[in-house]
Amino acid sequence: GQLLHFEDVAMTFPNGTTALSGVDLTVNRGEFVTVVGPSGCGKSTLLRIASGLTPATEGVTQVDTSRIGYVFQDATLLPWRDVQSNVELLAELNGVPKAKRRATAKEAIELVGLSGFEKHLPRTLSGGMKMRTSLARSLTLDPELFLFDEPFGALDEITRERLNDELIKLFTEQQFAGLFITHSVSEAVYLSTKVVVMSGRPGKIVDTFPVEFPFPRD
Ligand code: ADP
Ligand code: ADP
Repeated sequence: GQLLHFEDVAMTFPNGTTALSGVDLTVNRGEFVTVVGPSGCGKSTLLRIASGLTPATEGVTQVDTSRIGYVFQDATLLPWRDVQSNVELLAELNGVPKAKRRATAKEAIELVGLSGFEKHLPRTLSGGMKMRTSLARSLTLDPELFLFDEPFGALDEITRERLNDELIKLFTEQQFAGLFITHSVSEAVYLSTKVVVMSGRPGKIVDTFPVEFPFPRD
């Protein structure tokens, strides 16, 4: 089944900048789609439209789930809350009772490999651990569609590679569909079942190719 379907989508901002034009994109269940392209080609705009945060100005944008996870490059943790209560935040906002959200958060913390760090404040965590916390927070929503806006872009290469591998594992186990943007071609190919290449201003999709998944590792 298809979770996201865009047809001839265009986006022009109120200031007159056209960020996207003629974008056709489908994300099916079981797919992890990466969108790669240079800075400014409209990748973030595409993701915000997918999330429903920004309506497109033209075209068809169909999203067939309300369970959407969204992870940004900046982990966006609340500095005064520890890992546990940062991870509980979305469930809390959704009115999930305390015992339930505690259990859900515990499970998500385990999934991202942060068990034992529940009481740590964000400022005591490495960049990779902050990103894990942010991932765990989105996982509590049990997303069917997971949107990633260059989540590992600010991390050092070793951390990034480790998180890439863990994300592949999560994707395989949790069975969400992914839409992941990056400006790194190697990261795009490494992570995905399908790579979508964007370029130009306004941004257009210039190529789409399937990737054998899981990519053979050493
Ligand atoms: P990318 O994520 O590929 O770097 P963006 O989607 O952030 O690209 O931006 C695409 C284009 O749209 C850029 O030219 C950017 O300056 C412009 N843009 C993004 N957001 C806005 C906005 N809110 N208002 C006006 N222009 C915007
Ligand atoms: P680019 O020049 O396209 O930005 P890089 O050579 O900097 O590409 O690599 C970008 C990222 O791709 C790496 O930091 C890493 O996260 C990911 N990557 C590439 N190869 C591997 C790999 N074998 N295992 C895990 N991640 C990889």
